[in-house]
Amino acid sequence: MKADLAILGGGQLAQMLGAAAQTLGITCRALDPSPNACAAETCEMIAGNFDDPAAIARLVGGVDALTFEFENVPTSALLEAEKLGVAVRPNAEALRAASDRLLEKNLFRSIGMRVPPFVPVSTTSELHDAADTIGVPFLLKARSGGYDGRSQAVVRDRADVERAWSSIGYSACIAESMVSLRGEVSVITCRAMTGETRIYPLSANEHRDGILIRSVSPADVTEELAATATAWARALLDRIDYVGVLALELFVTPDGLLANEFAPRVHNTGHATIEASQTSQFENHIRAVLGLPLGSTEPLCHSVMRNFIGNIPRSSRSQTDAGTFVHDYGKIARPGRKLGHITFTGDSPGSVCALESRFVASL
Ligand code: AMP
Repeated sequence: MKADLAILGGGQLAQMLGAAAQTLGITCRALDPSPNACAAETCEMIAGNFDDPAAIARLVGGVDALTFEFENVPTSALLEAEKLGVAVRPNAEALRAASDRLLEKNLFRSIGMRVPPFVPVSTTSELHDAADTIGVPFLLKARSGGYDGRSQAVVRDRADVERAWSSIGYSACIAESMVSLRGEVSVITCRAMTGETRIYPLSANEHRDGILIRSVSPADVTEELAATATAWARALLDRIDYVGVLALELFVTPDGLLANEFAPRVHNTGHATIEASQTSQFENHIRAVLGLPLGSTEPLCHSVMRNFIGNIPRSSRSQTDAGTFVHDYGKIARPGRKLGHITFTGDSPGSVCALESRFVASL
């Protein structure tokens, strides 16, 4: 079958990209190692490995561009697609920076974004030096391969450093100061090939065990904070000549904003844009990577999004409240796995909270 856009990864993000593409009359083909990948609901699927050149060739046959739905794909897959003459958007540089915490933090610093104090660690002596330089407690974060709080360990005191490092397999890390968090926010952005940039209102995000559980949009933040977040995001997009949706995650601390990380893709904290924005992040990503004009990122209403992690509550299946939208990705349940989400919308934060409270009481 002819497809317009190839996607590396066949999870729920590819599923929602595929759904948005369908509304534009665009077809997507996705590659995933699992034969049961949930993107099959909206995309033509290829089962295969990301490092298999034959699978990449089948994926990109006849498409206009290749994109990806998560950052742990090998850059070799992007290079393989480029070799076959397919445009890769966003570019490999963005993927490289987002999948290596040291490159990412250095990139942030180079464009004037503030970050928590950190040092690179790749030897035992550097690990002990880190305790002197940034003090305890600190976080050890593997430079690559980690997401949703995985590949991280807290170092509470000096006696703990070896245990913490062994728990993440002695991989090359950054040691990062534990900062005092007043909250966490993200800004979802979209940049077109022309450089035109659209920015969604900030979301305020709550995590448990490193996994996003709830996102409120627009976030209740000062104009100054929102202006800093959007200026940083614009600087980042321009620096890496980015095309597509990018999510920038930030810490709100007593001393102001600090940059944590960015995702070179559509993002969990932007799911409410499906119902709560003029154009969803998924549609805007498709538009950007295929060179179509971007849609408006203006909010239509207030929203709260909650993830279903490990199980989908029975009561969500009988939700009939106006303004409540249940998304079941059709995945097999497993502890810690994102299986779906629910979005509550309304014309005020109070009305959204009322819907959410009614749902929570039903659990
Ligand atoms: P990350 O994978 O870096 O996004 O980290 C997952 C979660 O751990 C974040 O969303 C924060 O809640 C928490 N976290 C990460 N880094 C720090 C830090 N330097 N100080 C305090 N909390 C952090």
